[in-house]
Amino acid sequence: MRLGVPKETAPDERRVALVPETVGRLPEGVEVVVEAGAGESASFGDDAYRSAGAAIGDPWAADVVAKVAWPSSTEVPRFRSGQALIGFLGGSGAETLPALAEAAVHAFALESIPRITRAQPIDALSSQATVAGYKAVLLAADRLPRFFPMLTTAAGTIAPAKVLVIGAGVAGLQAIATARRLGAVVSAFDVRPAVAEQVRSLGATFLDLGVEGEETEGGYARELTPEQQAAQQDALQQRIPQFDVLVTTAAIPGRPAPKLVTEAAVRAMPPGAVIVDLAAETGGNCELTQRGSEVVEGGVTIVGFTNVPSLMPTHASQLLSRNVAALVALLVRDGELKPDWDDEIVAGSCVTREAVVA
Ligand code: NAD
Repeated sequence: MRLGVPKETAPDERRVALVPETVGRLPEGVEVVVEAGAGESASFGDDAYRSAGAAIGDPWAADVVAKVAWPSSTEVPRFRSGQALIGFLGGSGAETLPALAEAAVHAFALESIPRITRAQPIDALSSQATVAGYKAVLLAADRLPRFFPMLTTAAGTIAPAKVLVIGAGVAGLQAIATARRLGAVVSAFDVRPAVAEQVRSLGATFLDLGVEGEETEGGYARELTPEQQAAQQDALQQRIPQFDVLVTTAAIPGRPAPKLVTEAAVRAMPPGAVIVDLAAETGGNCELTQRGSEVVEGGVTIVGFTNVPSLMPTHASQLLSRNVAALVALLVRDGELKPDWDDEIVAGSCVTREAVVA
């Protein structure tokens, strides 16, 4: 069986779906064909792939094509019946589903991997959220005109930065840990009360805003009622002026990001404060976030970059590559592409199969 790895074509995509290290970890009988230069922007050269045992060539003829971003409308016609595709379905990816289904392509969306314990090695949402949470804090530290740690110097003592992380899921917990390592005093809030203990175990304070949401069976938050959301905005507005940095990660799967930080709350922050809005992709948690860019409003810098994992492409690709390899292992039997459709992970992540659109 051949696994093809094309060069990503989206303008802001620097990751690659498979790195040289993973080539040798694939199931026996899987040969890898990488497009020339596919790993370059993530610091993996063609020679490194060759040394790992991959061939440099045309990836589109392979039995399985592994991509980071879903194929564009110009890439979709390159697929043939029976071929498999692995990638993130995000953005306008859903628009290509009818064409992929028509072509009888077995397409597996990385966002749709069921979040069950057995699927953890394949959980690409988590691996990339880990990168995003870490990088968000570095982006904030870079923009903040203050130190993160407390410093005692001959010229006097500097107070540590105060950081608030809103949404303490995978990205938020990584942001808390990173801000703590840099020496900031960190607080966090999430509507899922179960998270409070995890927040405290990282040395941060869990804010009690008097708002408690529900958790779904999959561990996600349920959307708040409009009344609860208004109460949360009010409670946050009282607290936000005390912080130098906000990292917001709050999300509800399949829904626009909840608006938690109002314009008035931003205006009440100290001059030089920084907000990094990791929910920018789905509309942003802050009312003033501009999707894909960085703006300064009343002296407060608001970073609304999308695709933050791509800003740290080497390790983001390395983790993603291990996720992809673990999924490939479920699609291959005896060196051939034979997905086990009874497997909950295979069936759950498959978004097109033969002429059926999921
Ligand atoms: P996510 O990206 O969907 O959301 C990020 C966070 O935002 C979540 O913690 C959510 O509770 C929070 N949130 C939503 N609305 C909010 C609001 N109004 N105010 C404040 N916070 C709000 O979630 P995620 O980080 O991908 O994962 C969330 C949880 O899913 C994990 O903590 C875990 O329990 C579960 N999970 C399970 C597995 C597994 O078992 N394989 C893997 C990953 C995650």
